[in-house]
Amino acid sequence: MTEPTITQLLPMPEDWRRALAVVAHPDDLEYGCSAAIAGWTDGGREVAYVLATRGEAGIDTLEPAKCGPLREQEQRASAAVVGVSTVEFLDHKDGVIEYGLDLRRDIAAAIRRHRPELVITLNHRDTWGGVAWNTPDHVAVGRATLDAAGDAGNRWIFPELTERGLAPWNGVRWVAVAGSSTPTHATDASVGLERAVRSLLEHRTYIEALTDEDPETYARGFLTGNASATGERFGGKPAVAFELFGR
Ligand SMILES: [Zn+2]
Repeated sequence: MTEPTITQLLPMPEDWRRALAVVAHPDDLEYGCSAAIAGWTDGGREVAYVLATRGEAGIDTLEPAKCGPLREQEQRASAAVVGVSTVEFLDHKDGVIEYGLDLRRDIAAAIRRHRPELVITLNHRDTWGGVAWNTPDHVAVGRATLDAAGDAGNRWIFPELTERGLAPWNGVRWVAVAGSSTPTHATDASVGLERAVRSLLEHRTYIEALTDEDPETYARGFLTGNASATGERFGGKPAVAFELFGR
């Protein structure tokens, strides 16, 4: 019998200065990606966050008008833990984000404002590894982000953005999709993992509504488990995986 072959992940590109992460909800980046982000900001790279919503429909026991501002605050605190000070919200409605031109335009505008070389987003496919159904918000935002990386560079696609003073930005070299079940690349999470745990813990209201487990045990268990599983395909160190699309 032969052992099953485990495909090794390639190292993420390192030759960039600015990244923009675009996701649907507060906590999307903290469930796995923020260990990578902590490592990158340590190395002097700039990372900004753009969230399509404030996650106002995310907590059953808290009405959206109260939930939105609270989760916005938790997201800003969470970003600060991993060295990210710019957090923007696009004001789409949580749970009912529509894939379409409005979303593509808003994300293309954000890409033109921030002029990143690397764009990060979250799993845009129908399922999480064929096991759990993904949410329509993640699918819409992930797909629109992959599309908007191209839209941002074309002056004729959304000419109204140029009229608003946002010049085309054709400098996106890669879009990295976190949470993909078919990752291609990874980055070392060992230096950022402890801060990733603390950044996830900043979403305390959400976590307390989600689980009866002690929040710290929950956050640490989730993130270290995933990082070690990825590490098996990346030289044995804890790692964060991405599916990397070049442009
Ligand atoms: Zn989400």
